[in-house]
Amino acid sequence: MARSIDDAVAALADRADATALAGGTWIMRAPIRREPPIRFCVGLTRIPELNAVDISASEIRIGACVTHARLVSALAGVRGCEGLVTAAGSAANPAVRQMATIGGNLCASAFPASDLAPSLLSLDAEVELSGPGGDERLPVGRFLERRGSLEPGILLTAVVIPRRALKSGHARLPLRKAGDYPVAIVSMTAELRGDGAVEDIRVTVGSVEASPRRWTQLEQALLGRRLDPNGAYDLAQAEAHIFTGRDGVDAPGWYRVQVLPALARRAAQAVLAGP
Ligand SMILES: Cc1cc2nc3c(=O)[nH]c(=O)nc-3n(C[C@H](O)[C@H](O)[C@H](O)COP(=O)(O)OP(=O)(O)OC[C@H]3O[C@@H](n4cnc5c(N)ncnc54)[C@H](O)[C@@H]3O)c2cc1C
Repeated sequence: MARSIDDAVAALADRADATALAGGTWIMRAPIRREPPIRFCVGLTRIPELNAVDISASEIRIGACVTHARLVSALAGVRGCEGLVTAAGSAANPAVRQMATIGGNLCASAFPASDLAPSLLSLDAEVELSGPGGDERLPVGRFLERRGSLEPGILLTAVVIPRRALKSGHARLPLRKAGDYPVAIVSMTAELRGDGAVEDIRVTVGSVEASPRRWTQLEQALLGRRLDPNGAYDLAQAEAHIFTGRDGVDAPGWYRVQVLPALARRAAQAVLAGP
């Protein structure tokens, strides 16, 4: 168990077979995924900075070892974070949410069904990395592209969310009420004018393709209009063809794409229901 970020970076850089261990909920399933056995872990959860949540007027800074359950309690009622709270509070099941961390969720590289990743993308979040070569800050989207090929010894230390006058929502479709990975996800973050028209908007789609991504065509279509859930459904139906759903044991690819308009409607409803 490392006691500081420097100790963890050094221990990970020291051994080629070392793996960072946060909540362990992804790592514990490595044998099911037929991955090579893990021989040496560097535990991160006792590093104080990685467990902090700091909310200031300009940003929210979340340590990498903050769990899903803690995200829910720390961010409940924080304006703009409604979608992230829904994502953290509805992922997996209560036992997993007590252990699974935000850093582990973003670093689990071949995991397409993350709830936090599309939500953080829609909030324009950034991540901070520490490694033998120094520190780096980059947008979540760029990190997701790079995460499969990070050099040994690189740790994700924090997620930083800029604070703006936003409302956000997160809509997910699991096949059962709890415990399943979501078949598809739509996260939406919008800045609305006094007349309800969309001033700025991010719509992201998760679990449909290998990695979450922004649905810029739908964002363009919604911009400047009054945000209306049924209108969002119609516009999403016209733009859903840009996704190529991944086939999985839980659902075929075409089904993931087919449910997107309904999820766009639910995400818009969640945005409008926010404070
Ligand atoms: C039954 C079940 C249901 C689930 N359902 C959902 C769901 O509905 N939605 C969802 O989003 N997720 C779901 N998950 C996945 C879960 O969210 C992830 O397993 C979890 O977020 C991983 O976090 P962890 O802290 O346990 O990571 P770990 O298992 O400790 O680590 C995961 C990976 O990240 C690396 N890592 C961890 N922390 C860092 C760091 N700070 N820096 C660098 N590398 C790091 C590890 O080396 C490892 O490769 C489910 C999991 C289970 C077991």
